[in-house]
Amino acid sequence: MQTLSGVSCINDRGVYQTASHFKHMTIAFISDLHLSAARPSSISRFCDFMEVSATQLSTLYILGDLFDYWVGDDGAEALGFTRVEQALKQTSDSGTEIYFIAGNRDFLVGDAFAERTGVKILKDKTVLELYGQRVMIAHGDQFCIDDIEYMKARAHFLNPQWQQSVLKTPIEDRIQEAMKLRSESEQRKSGQSEEIMDVNQQEIIRVFKENNLDLMIHGHTHRPYVHQLDVDGKTCRRYVLGEWKTERSVIYANQGKFYLKK
Ligand code: MN
Repeated sequence: MQTLSGVSCINDRGVYQTASHFKHMTIAFISDLHLSAARPSSISRFCDFMEVSATQLSTLYILGDLFDYWVGDDGAEALGFTRVEQALKQTSDSGTEIYFIAGNRDFLVGDAFAERTGVKILKDKTVLELYGQRVMIAHGDQFCIDDIEYMKARAHFLNPQWQQSVLKTPIEDRIQEAMKLRSESEQRKSGQSEEIMDVNQQEIIRVFKENNLDLMIHGHTHRPYVHQLDVDGKTCRRYVLGEWKTERSVIYANQGKFYLKK
């Protein structure tokens, strides 16, 4: 049996707890898996993690860019994501709650995907109350306000009218367009300074104050780290998830504590 340090294995009737009891205690956060059929190892790594999640996690939060790109819920099969959806479904059926916030690669994830997988879709910048703390979960791209060109493109992609018109075009056309956008974005990133693509500190402080946060968890920048910051004399923390290029990057929360495993 999997045990977690500091957790008693005996319940109040003196019965040794099974793994399913531990399941009610651990929450995990992941982002930036960039799953792609072109990299089968990315999909295997995720499916293996989902198997473990089904036995060990009460709740899993996916904070965007689960997919390298998503062309609409009707394109999942064409992109080779059937296995990913099955893994999500099995884990949610096991009793693990799965929540999803869209990233800048998978903003077209919709209700049909949620229906098939049992995943619940949350808005970006959702505030959770965990262990008496106010915790904001977000993809993270909207804190990168110094990248003006990116913020403009972001507003365009999130426009519901634009999304509706795109979803009416043939799947093949959407895949072509997604691949084009992806390579343009890669090209642009390679010519851009690191600072511009990171979060803006003043914006982070502003969001902490506005929402009276204790903690923030996000991805997107692929710079896993636990930042400590002073917000009007209060010590707050910002946890940044890493990408899953070669290994898992996960934040676990258990018994009021948060751990970044990168
Ligand atoms: Mn991203």
